[in-house]
Amino acid sequence: MDFDPWWLILVPILFGLGWIAARVDVRQMLSETRRLPDSYFRGLNFLLNEQPDRAIDAFIEVVKLDPETIELHFALGNLFRRRGELERAIRVHQNLIQRSDLPAPQREQALHELAQDYLKAGLLDRAEEGFIRLQTSRFATEAVRALIRIYEAEHDWPKAIAAMQTLQRLIDEPVPQAVHYHCELAQAALAAQPPDRDAAQAALDAATQGLGDEEAAPSVQGSVRVALLRAQLAMLDGEPGLARATLERVLQRYPEFAGLVAGPWLASHAGGTASSQALERLEAIYRQTPSQDLFDAIFRALQAAQGPEASWRFAREALRHHPSLSGLERLLQAQIEAAGAATASGISDDDAHLLHGIIQRPAQRLGRYACQACGFRARRFYWQCPGCNSWETYLPKRLEELEGT
Ligand SMILES: [Zn+2]
Repeated sequence: MDFDPWWLILVPILFGLGWIAARVDVRQMLSETRRLPDSYFRGLNFLLNEQPDRAIDAFIEVVKLDPETIELHFALGNLFRRRGELERAIRVHQNLIQRSDLPAPQREQALHELAQDYLKAGLLDRAEEGFIRLQTSRFATEAVRALIRIYEAEHDWPKAIAAMQTLQRLIDEPVPQAVHYHCELAQAALAAQPPDRDAAQAALDAATQGLGDEEAAPSVQGSVRVALLRAQLAMLDGEPGLARATLERVLQRYPEFAGLVAGPWLASHAGGTASSQALERLEAIYRQTPSQDLFDAIFRALQAAQGPEASWRFAREALRHHPSLSGLERLLQAQIEAAGAATASGISDDDAHLLHGIIQRPAQRLGRYACQACGFRARRFYWQCPGCNSWETYLPKRLEELEGT
């Protein structure tokens, strides 16, 4: 192979060019760094050391020295929001939006930040307005999710349903609580005076559609709630047989919810009184899947239909297998209410008062439902937690049962 002497010149030239390019790069970097005030680095240092207060002070200094720094305004606004200083966060983001030189992408970002400030500050009207404007921006998905949260907080179910449909057009993501939005509409229609049965029917049909294929992916709480509301509608229509059949499915499929459906299921029987067969059926379910709610329902129904002897017999047997303070409290309460009547317990009324007085408080405390997400305790069962607004975070179990598991 011939050696070309040109290489001897070319290689050093290329090498030299590379060296010059590197110097230019380093120089440019150094000059940019010099342009950044020291406060910027101090702020950064504080942030890294998780001292947001001091970081904020340092950044405010930078912003004063150089008001053009858009990104730093965003960082400051974010820090204020995270620290709960919402007025200051709002001011920073409003100032950004008012700037005429702000490029369109940053304007969108500032609007998004401002809407989040309003949401966190509880200014739902303004937050809603902001997120609606962002529905056509690159923040569309986040905006629609935020809108759903706002409408849920406001209990505006028609708007929540519309926002949920928008979200499903944007991304293929299931919204399991959508069934509950329709159920909320149905519940309101049934509670209206007079009840709006057609609206309830339409809402329940939409809810059933939202449940999808129950065999493939059962939404247990959604199914139970739809069944309860359908039974209520059937009773309104004067069709107790249909109500009974609807609730029967819950007893078969989801016996852990038997306590919640036992009352309306018994009421759907002929004449509204519990037949001994119906009560035996519930007792059989209780033996398989015991729960405090079902205990209460059976105890009350037995007391009403067959008297204290029968209810005490059931309670004694139940408490022997599943000792429960709440169960004992119900028993003593029943005896006190039936003062002077047949003392099926073998305990005197005075003793019943004494014992009841001792266990009443702890029994009531343990007789509450508890949210699995935030721990909020409630006397009644909720499909949506009033504490943290999460859906389906209550189990059909009282604290005493939860602590025992
Ligand atoms: Zn909660």
